[in-house]
Amino acid sequence: MDFSLSTEERQIRDTVRAFVEKEIMPLEPDVLRNERAGRPALDPGVTQELRDKARKTGLWGINTPEEYGGAALGPIMSAIIAMEVGRTFVPFTFGGSADNILYAGTDEQKRRYLIPTIEGERRSCFAITEPGAGSDARNISARAVRDGAEWVINGEKTFITGGSEADFVMVFAVAEPYGVTCFLVDRDMGWTSEPIPTMGEWGPASLVFQDVRVPEENILGELGKGFELAMQWIGQGRYMIPARAIGSAERMLGMAVEYAKIRKSMGQAIAGYQAIQWMIADSQVEIEAAKWLTLYAAWRVQQGMDARHASSIAKLNGAVMANQVVDRVLQIHGGMGYTKELPIERWYRELRLLRIFEGTDEIQRRTIARNLIKGHARLGTIGE
Ligand SMILES: Cc1cc2nc3c(=O)[nH]c(=O)nc-3n(C[C@H](O)[C@H](O)[C@H](O)COP(=O)(O)OP(=O)(O)OC[C@H]3O[C@@H](n4cnc5c(N)ncnc54)[C@H](O)[C@@H]3O)c2cc1C
Repeated sequence: MDFSLSTEERQIRDTVRAFVEKEIMPLEPDVLRNERAGRPALDPGVTQELRDKARKTGLWGINTPEEYGGAALGPIMSAIIAMEVGRTFVPFTFGGSADNILYAGTDEQKRRYLIPTIEGERRSCFAITEPGAGSDARNISARAVRDGAEWVINGEKTFITGGSEADFVMVFAVAEPYGVTCFLVDRDMGWTSEPIPTMGEWGPASLVFQDVRVPEENILGELGKGFELAMQWIGQGRYMIPARAIGSAERMLGMAVEYAKIRKSMGQAIAGYQAIQWMIADSQVEIEAAKWLTLYAAWRVQQGMDARHASSIAKLNGAVMANQVVDRVLQIHGGMGYTKELPIERWYRELRLLRIFEGTDEIQRRTIARNLIKGHARLGTIGE
């Protein structure tokens, strides 16, 4: 068993870390100022400039196959890079990537949707959730009805990340009589979006489809096989979400350690009190546990093994861990932690989402328990 990174992997990790520290973290005060004034966190020009700089450093298309110009670093490196980027709350991702399910497209779909998304010319969103179907995603009611060479889609989607900005959507609707099917639908085919204010800084949107006509060739994958595609899309988030949270938690724990050393109470630094030390210790234990569970899930994906059980464990653990750590870090900072002078309260609100989207805590627990009860997962295994 080898837990170490190769020289090349360490170099990539260090390059990303240096980029995040030198280029991204200095933007944090601007982001806080902009968001608190109700403006977008970063000007699109600034994001583009960052992406251009990153591309020159080779940080582009992290998980994108080489035939599409990417670096194809694979799930483990993608998770490690997400941990590094998660150290800052600046909303930034390296460019050159597209939703994994777009690779299931036809050559024409790849030309029109996949490649422009990789190049940053088009923006996608993924829409399965509906007002009446969240965790119960198999129960969606959006309908697609065939009319000649077209499908007519009616329905409403909700909480769609990027739904206000996207120019096309991967939308899931029931195509009678085949079942759930994924359609690639350009905004100018007629769907509309409305932002949903949330307790986090970036809001999702609701989407309305009213008699939206979509040509047959815009079906992604096979008719009636949309649910499998949706699970494939969500599967990736199940190790990338905790990966990013690990970076955030480590950064905040570092802040808490530094603050505990300088903040004095009753004649000594609070770092000297066991109450504070235990919060620090418990946080590191939980971060380390989350790190290895997440890397294990990514490793299974990289090996081409079934990673669903390991990914549910990683996602549940990582989401709960991040919320516990941010709460302790806020507590260690006392009243200062609760103010908007520090970014802790922002992280506190943002990280709360992790226990809800892409499978709530309860749904992950349900999956884990059912896998064991039905024998899809076994106890007592190591890497099998
Ligand atoms: C900011 C944000 C961004 C999002 N982005 C997207 C996106 O890009 N695309 C997209 O399609 N969706 C997106 N979602 C939707 C998200 O995936 C759903 O909110 C989530 O799956 C939960 O569904 P729900 O909100 O309908 O809650 P519900 O399913 O109604 O759940 C309510 C409560 O009941 C619990 N519950 C439900 N069923 C069970 C059960 N069987 N056993 C035990 N407990 C259960 C849940 O865990 C939860 O606590 C986003 C949501 C948010 C808030």
